[in-house]
Amino acid sequence: MLVDNGRSNMLRTELEEILYCIRCGACLNVCPVYQEIGGHAYGSVYPGPVGAVYTPGAFGMGPWADLPQASSLCGACKDACPVRIDIPRMLLALRARAEEGGHTPRWVGDGLHVFRLLATRPRLFRWASAVARRVSRWFGPNGFDRLPGPLAGWTRHRHFPAMAAETFTARRRRQAETRGQS
Ligand code: SF4
Repeated sequence: MLVDNGRSNMLRTELEEILYCIRCGACLNVCPVYQEIGGHAYGSVYPGPVGAVYTPGAFGMGPWADLPQASSLCGACKDACPVRIDIPRMLLALRARAEEGGHTPRWVGDGLHVFRLLATRPRLFRWASAVARRVSRWFGPNGFDRLPGPLAGWTRHRHFPAMAAETFTARRRRQAETRGQS
């Protein structure tokens, strides 16, 4: 019997490439998510971008379905990897697996549906973000110590900041006007 700790589960799958990993740690050190949340948050001996692929690939999606979501897909891990392992490609494959396997909570899908409706209608998006900004600041400029419902997990260990008083677009416009006057 060969004890391989789940590695053979990834053979001949879209995750096979992760088996080339030499455990150098380069992808960890450049990952902006890893730098913020640290290694323990990955819950496995393989942390960081490589762990976000390796752990669900070797041990199954089960409790690890969230790990592939812990990425901005910036591609820094792929650029830093001496073996040129395409981690972002496999993270996307795992996200698809999580979706197809019903591992994505219903409220996430519904929330993204609402976001898409707003994001594809600029006037509605501007109105909704103005309302959200105002509501978020009603509760104080420092944000929230506790969020309700399915969002409560976010504030269990951290603070949720209030939205900025000024939008990014408004700030850019103001700065451009200031530059134009000087
Ligand atoms: S940079 Fe590449 S080889 Fe190094 S730990 Fe990450 S995936 Fe493995």
